[in-house]
Amino acid sequence: MTLTPEQKAEIDAERAEPRPTLRAISEGMEKRLYTAHPVLDHGFVRVIDYMGNDAAICQAARVSYGRGTKSVSNDEGLIRYLMRHWHSTPFEMCEVKFHVKLPVFVARQWIRHRTANVNEYSARYSILDREFYIPAPEHLAAQSTTNNQGRGEVLEGDEAARVLQILREDAMRSYDHYEEMLSQDGKKGLARELARMNLPANIYTQWYWKIDLHNLFHFLRLRADAHAQYEIRAYADVICDIVRDWVPLAYKAFEDYRLGGATLSAKGVELIRRRLAGEAITQENSGMSKGEWREFVALWGDAFQS
Ligand SMILES: Cc1cc2nc3c(=O)[nH]c(=O)nc-3n(C[C@H](O)[C@H](O)[C@H](O)COP(=O)(O)OP(=O)(O)OC[C@H]3O[C@@H](n4cnc5c(N)ncnc54)[C@H](O)[C@@H]3O)c2cc1C
Repeated sequence: MTLTPEQKAEIDAERAEPRPTLRAISEGMEKRLYTAHPVLDHGFVRVIDYMGNDAAICQAARVSYGRGTKSVSNDEGLIRYLMRHWHSTPFEMCEVKFHVKLPVFVARQWIRHRTANVNEYSARYSILDREFYIPAPEHLAAQSTTNNQGRGEVLEGDEAARVLQILREDAMRSYDHYEEMLSQDGKKGLARELARMNLPANIYTQWYWKIDLHNLFHFLRLRADAHAQYEIRAYADVICDIVRDWVPLAYKAFEDYRLGGATLSAKGVELIRRRLAGEAITQENSGMSKGEWREFVALWGDAFQS
């Protein structure tokens, strides 16, 4: 992971100067503040700021339920109730601001999450660093034969070595040309906003990314999932660890109902009822398409194999 000397100095200065506050804090998040958590070969995630904690979620929820409500009286029970019933606005009372360094092709997937506030490093204003994502050998995989949007077997031997060589050489060559086009040695030099055109999508960019907890959970539900591309999942996994420390009760409920949970279609509910009543269910009598049946069986296992 590469932090610039300025970023390192900024982190050290921030961590060296604790400030008293009247605001509610999260002990777990205080420990995470400013620290850069490495991701991939040159990337990182660090928490710049945050607002709220588990108690803030409950505080907001109790405005709607009133203090006298007995059935949802303890914080964990209340948070689980909110998560279970998709009562999402109390989770929006918590916010977090990250500084993220990530390859441009990961940023393209990430930016599709429109409910965040983003401020990105400007390659019109500044010169990009010579930093490219080169996958570790175990992540250098062939196209999946069953999933058009996924990876299959890991490349080995000469093939893997050649792929790595191509990635490295292309990155270096395009960066050399970028520098050459920018060069001022006796020439005008091309504007930064144009010279960047030839840079590949594995070059690193950086941004500040601010989002509320409800929308962050939505992001994590999609990007910490096994179907997400490994490279964005690597970031989502680190953020999951941070959120677990920040709002442990909310994270536990999220893990239970969303990350580890599953949704069932009306047809799926009916099939489970029929199976529990003793009927043998096959794809042919299920009313499901082959793809839907495959996913259903993958989730519910042996009971639907025969
Ligand atoms: C495994 C995977 C594969 C994908 N493949 C592709 C692909 O091949 N091509 C592609 O283009 N994208 C792809 N995506 C991106 C995907 O389609 C979504 O754009 C992305 O996940 C962001 O989801 P979102 O819109 O729910 O999130 P956000 O933008 O964060 O929005 C959160 C929620 O807010 C609401 N919302 C936000 N903006 C609007 C709006 N303007 N109108 C109505 N409701 C809104 C919606 O309820 C939305 O769910 C993929 C995503 C995943 C996880």
